[in-house]
Amino acid sequence: MKIRQHPRMRGILVGDEVYSYPHKIFARVADVFPAAVCVKIGILSIDEPMEITLAPQLWRADDIENLSVCRYCGCRENIHTVTETGIPFRICATCSTLPDEAKAPPVA
Ligand SMILES: [Zn+2]
Repeated sequence: MKIRQHPRMRGILVGDEVYSYPHKIFARVADVFPAAVCVKIGILSIDEPMEITLAPQLWRADDIENLSVCRYCGCRENIHTVTETGIPFRICATCSTLPDEAKAPPVA
């Protein structure tokens, strides 16, 4: 059986910042799989002594958005951060000059 790559996994690189909708947290990609990414989550232990450990988690491509690329065209050049929605995303210079209705839908 051939493993098909999830469309959203195109262009995701190790080190990219991704947001998980179900977990509502951000993380950095540590490894990339055909339909998921491995991220390292800082977990605070409240047992003595308090400490933060990094735990690997697998996030499904369906549940995440890659915040390191332009949300509309997926490019990595001339991108800047938009924070007005509460979830920061990045948009490139070309897409930011387009009116909303001319933008491609967010990469899904
Ligand atoms: Zn763009």
